[in-house]
Amino acid sequence: MSLLTVGSVAFDKLETPFGKTDKIVGGAATYITISASYFTNKNNIVAVVGGDFPQEMIATMQEKGINTDGLEIIADGKTFFWSGKYHNDMNTRDTLDTQLNVFENFNPQIPDNYQDCQYLMLGNMVPALQHSVLKQLTNRPKFVMLDTMNLWIDIALPDLKAVIAEVDCLTINDEEARQLSGDYSLRRAAKSIMAMGPKTLIIKKGEHGALLFQGDQIFYCPALPLEEVFDPTGAGDTFAGGFIGYLAKTDDISFDNMKRAIVHGSAMASYCVEKFGTERILNLTQEDINTRVNQFKDLAFFDL
Ligand code: AMP
Repeated sequence: MSLLTVGSVAFDKLETPFGKTDKIVGGAATYITISASYFTNKNNIVAVVGGDFPQEMIATMQEKGINTDGLEIIADGKTFFWSGKYHNDMNTRDTLDTQLNVFENFNPQIPDNYQDCQYLMLGNMVPALQHSVLKQLTNRPKFVMLDTMNLWIDIALPDLKAVIAEVDCLTINDEEARQLSGDYSLRRAAKSIMAMGPKTLIIKKGEHGALLFQGDQIFYCPALPLEEVFDPTGAGDTFAGGFIGYLAKTDDISFDNMKRAIVHGSAMASYCVEKFGTERILNLTQEDINTRVNQFKDLAFFDL
């Protein structure tokens, strides 16, 4: 089944306890589509970049089967820029700089050939834009997932609530779940967030894995304990791309299949953090992914 992803394509400048980068390619939609490319070849992106964005990266995305018809290039504009610095625990970071550039006037246009997508991933961006994408689709996709961040809870809560009310699944981290619900207990927070609209909620807990909620059901997927975590940037997006890519591939949105999807998303994220930026997830084989998925099974499976 086909997947449509809308979100940022960016330059990131990163600093972790292990090193620094100059401007490298990042962005939520970049990580999501690259990760999803291991699961579906009907993988469409809608985003905007400036004339400074490297053509080679667009060619690499196309080689991965990503349809870039919806990637708008504003020749005399500059690509969205984000800079972040990780603390020693690698689970928390500070945003040092955000320059919206061409993203400031981004008005996502959905090409006609994307209209029939069955799976929609609304990557982290201004909630009103996420909403406008949903409104532009003539047929509502079978499954709509949305990612967001604390910034929008702080400055655009009514818009965020309006779009959350219309999606099937929301992914946020534990801190954001507490902020959005006003409740410290993640279980109670999940209940109140699901009451806002989404039937399914994923709460990401960084190196401590992810929780999947639907009605009264809960599933927990740990993160793989890795010897080396180099750069967590994009891990959440890579996770989301693996999750929704797996659902699109199998075209099954039952809770049981979501459990498998969350393990595949976690396997993808475990690779993402091993190198800076998209480097590691651009160079994976199906065998690499299967190996990691089996490691998750060995890590968490038990019989009574
Ligand atoms: P993650 O580590 O999964 O939260 O995602 C990191 C990516 O999000 C980076 O590659 C950034 O370019 C992108 N990003 C950071 N801030 C924003 C923002 N305000 N809007 C859209 N994308 C952003």
